[in-house]
Amino acid sequence: MANEFAPCTEAQKQAVLERLAAIRQKIAAACQDSGRSESEVTLMAVTKTVSPELINLAVDAGVTTLGENRVQEYLSKRDAYRADAEVQFIGHLQTNKVKQIIDKVTLIHSVDSLHLAEAISKAAEKQGIVMPVLLEVNIGGEASKSGVSPDELPALLDAVQKLPAVRADGLMTIPPPMTDEAEQIRVFTQMKQLFDSLRQSVPMQVLSMGMSGDYEAAVRCGATIVRIGSALFGARSYPPKNEG
Ligand SMILES: *Cc1c(COP(=O)(O)O)cnc(C)c1O
Repeated sequence: MANEFAPCTEAQKQAVLERLAAIRQKIAAACQDSGRSESEVTLMAVTKTVSPELINLAVDAGVTTLGENRVQEYLSKRDAYRADAEVQFIGHLQTNKVKQIIDKVTLIHSVDSLHLAEAISKAAEKQGIVMPVLLEVNIGGEASKSGVSPDELPALLDAVQKLPAVRADGLMTIPPPMTDEAEQIRVFTQMKQLFDSLRQSVPMQVLSMGMSGDYEAAVRCGATIVRIGSALFGARSYPPKNEG
């Protein structure tokens, strides 16, 4: 796949740099509004369908963290990535693909079942590492979305903590698309409260929420990682295959 990408035009590159600057300003403003320090928020560049050339341009411009959501796409592109970018996995992960990425990512955002956590723990043990993970919460309660309900979360967290080679570092959510800002704030506040209540007994630091359409609200509500794709790289054109 890496070589299926046409070289980028200067105009495309310029557009990415301009969007990146605008996103940074908005994150800074949201931090200021909510009395947070900018250093608390990581801007993750979500790379699906994006050429390595543009991804590396974002890294050159100071983006430290890349978000991958398809195993095959990531494996086909990673050799072309700048080696110093930190790569995290954010997509739905099938247990049989865990071993393909376990030694190539620093955080898995999308643990939505004990079954998956067990597979990650097993693969991590084989590598002699402990894999940090986030538990994915279906905060909107949509049947089509992955993630556990807030009610199921304490039991999953308990069980994950008993596994030898995973460490629960926090929570992640993909809420339903919301254009209304008050609605965004309501949902992200719910996530933050859930996060804070669990943190009374488990030391977790990472709250991964906010995408292109709602990251400012997410930052105001306490997100520590915002995952941004289209607002940075432009609209995606999907390849025919959609694999996890
Ligand atoms: C694609 C994707 C994003 C980024 O979506 P945009 O709306 O383009 O910013 C964030 N998180 C996950 C899990 C994704 O799959």
